Amino acid sequence: MRLSRFFLPILKENPKEAEIVSHRLMLRAGMMRQEAAGIYAWLPLGFRVLKKIEQIVREEQDRAGALELLMPTLQLADLWRESGRYDAYGPEMLRITDRHKRELLYGPTNEEMITEIFRAYVKSYKSLPLNLYHIQWKFRDEQRPRFGVMRGREFLMKDAYSFDIDEAGARRSYNRMFVAYLRTFARMGLKAIPMRAETGPIGGDLSHEFIVLAETGESGVYCDSDVLNLPVPGDDVDYDGDLTDIIKQWTSVYAATEDVHDAARFDAEVPAEKKVHTRGIEVGQIFYFGTKYSDVMKAMVAGPDGVDVPIHGGSYGVGVSRLVGAIIEACHDDAGIKWPEAVAPFTAVILNLKQGSEDTDAACEKLYRELEAKGVDVLYDDTDQRAGAKFAAADLIGIPWQILVGPKGLAEGKLEIKRRSDGSRENLSPAEVVARIT
Ligand code: ATP
Ligand code: MG
Ligand code: MG
Ligand code: MG
Repeated sequence: MRLSRFFLPILKENPKEAEIVSHRLMLRAGMMRQEAAGIYAWLPLGFRVLKKIEQIVREEQDRAGALELLMPTLQLADLWRESGRYDAYGPEMLRITDRHKRELLYGPTNEEMITEIFRAYVKSYKSLPLNLYHIQWKFRDEQRPRFGVMRGREFLMKDAYSFDIDEAGARRSYNRMFVAYLRTFARMGLKAIPMRAETGPIGGDLSHEFIVLAETGESGVYCDSDVLNLPVPGDDVDYDGDLTDIIKQWTSVYAATEDVHDAARFDAEVPAEKKVHTRGIEVGQIFYFGTKYSDVMKAMVAGPDGVDVPIHGGSYGVGVSRLVGAIIEACHDDAGIKWPEAVAPFTAVILNLKQGSEDTDAACEKLYRELEAKGVDVLYDDTDQRAGAKFAAADLIGIPWQILVGPKGLAEGKLEIKRRSDGSRENLSPAEVVARIT
């Protein structure tokens, strides 16, 4: 991508409405634009990051055996009357009436709809376990939308729903999602800690929130610092095998949100020097809720003995759009964003330090073509801005590799490559630069 043809509306000034660094940087880097309170347009740079995050979430769901489908954003109110949640959900639900005076709502979550789909088709335990997920926009009319995409009203969520014949099966499904979440967030360069959590309006009795520790987070959390250094399962993890050892390892160290915090247990189990009490960002939550929806909505399957039983369910959310902000909260410095490579909008940016000079133009074009040919997401800053402005923009938008192409280096056949994460620099030949990045 040539920057001269890209749409990157960088802001010079710090936007006053932004209270936290990720919101400020997303606005300054031209990633998104607020269209109404808590409702955002994703501009090209931000959209690229959102898509990368979504793809990692998708790959790890698929790996864990979940199946992707796509449910609509609008749902019938009557469906929610079946579960009793239409009235219970309260003012967070956006209610809509169509021209025929049919009552609809913009889905804040999909337990009812997926249960309706399930019960229409699945009649036997032989079709289980089943886990269906989608990645779709949700609407919650939050009392206080704030912090940009971290607490929007319209936001992108991955939500998965598992169906099992009994509690033991449901716990295995829960464990698969638990492990998939550990892997998902680690792949994005995040430390997201599973913490015991309250179940809230989803219901049920077993739940973990995945929390990224950050002072700007909205949840208070307590944990043993040992939980910060536990190993994340590799891509060879066997989802068909027994995952209980991994789950035990992660859940036997104290970690809880303030809603379910047990001060006496915390004092008894955690030595003073390992006590962590801080704030965090909820990037995902998983629930086992048993037969809460299948009982009232009659989602029954025949067991091995031919008798119909209500299925045991779980649901599993990831805040895909919130993650964009959460990653920035975890990865930035005074100059701007420092994207982990896996979610970066571009892997490398070429900075032509003397645009219009034959030598630098030719060297940049050649490098640009080579990197593109190798499938690298590369941005070429071919604008006529001065070098200082190009450096500042590249730091702000946080591309992991900056390749500086100037007349001085070229005279010696060298380019300078800068790593955004630690600021380290090296002078390399063009071939070495290509090798380093690919
Ligand atoms: P919160 O406690 O932040 O209000 P929640 O517990 O209500 O979130 P869930 O129902 O667990 O949210 O939804 C799954 C995930 O969706 C959350 O873990 C979070 O990452 C994301 N999410 C929830 N509400 C919002 C929002 N208003 N804006 C952006 N992401 C959100
Ligand atoms: Mg909420
Ligand atoms: Mg919550
Ligand atoms: Mg939650």
